[in-house]
Amino acid sequence: MTAAPGRANSTIGRVVVLLGAPGAGKGTQAQVLSQKLGLAHVATGDLFRAAVRDGTPLGVTAKGFMDRGELVPDSVTIEMLLERLAKPDAEAGILLDGFPRNTAQAGVLDEALAAKGGRVDIAPFIEVPEADLVARLGGRWICRAQGHPYHELTKKPAQPGVCDVDGSELYQRDDDKPETVKARLRQQLGALDQVVSYYRDHGVLAGVDGRVDIDKVTSDLLEVIVPAIQSKG
Ligand code: ADP
Ligand code: AMP
Repeated sequence: MTAAPGRANSTIGRVVVLLGAPGAGKGTQAQVLSQKLGLAHVATGDLFRAAVRDGTPLGVTAKGFMDRGELVPDSVTIEMLLERLAKPDAEAGILLDGFPRNTAQAGVLDEALAAKGGRVDIAPFIEVPEADLVARLGGRWICRAQGHPYHELTKKPAQPGVCDVDGSELYQRDDDKPETVKARLRQQLGALDQVVSYYRDHGVLAGVDGRVDIDKVTSDLLEVIVPAIQSKG
């Protein structure tokens, strides 16, 4: 797919693609890394949840797929992502979380970035065994305002039920219920393997152990990301 007229003129800075299974810790890390690195955090799951909350046509389309733990069709997802990349804050660089989810999306992303004079600089892969993901997702709470993630055992908010960052209410996602979690992992892990291979073949993959504590994952991610983006402005 080619970027639509009007988008091709804009530029883009550094591009980091954070990879990992559902529950691996992408959102947790993206929140910290985007601030430390001055990159816009772009999470397609957050964009879909906002559309569902606002009742937009995009949200109505996406909801059924999300409730079943399936990927939303590429046509819808890619259009939404390209619109997000056209926003001014993307020019400073972006940290992608939850996109691409299959190799077709990865190919479109490469084309869209090339049209803006950019490329994927590094794709860190947060590795967590499947057995741990169920407990991560089952205990996850996120905030209503911005989707900041917490965990009832491993990352408790200072005040129960309230986001440390923005004070909004915490809730459990519908798709974090046990049946949907199983469906999500069953339907999405195969495609993740292919995306990991795609970036390995392109020489930008960097594996990071996601089983250690949150701060250690952050420092391990910074160790691979910083050298990869340092050479760019
Ligand atoms: P993703 O965005 O990849 O789906 P999240 O960042 O939402 O994953 O993390 C999933 C859950 O696991 C959250 O409840 C989060 O608080 C918790 N979590 C994230 N990283 C770790 C970690 N390194 N150790 C333990 N729990 C973690
Ligand atoms: P996430 O918040 O990343 O776990 O995403 C929640 C849900 O949104 C997923 O289970 C999918 O239904 C949908 N979704 C998010 N990102 C994508 C994507 N890149 N492609 C297709 N569906 C997506």
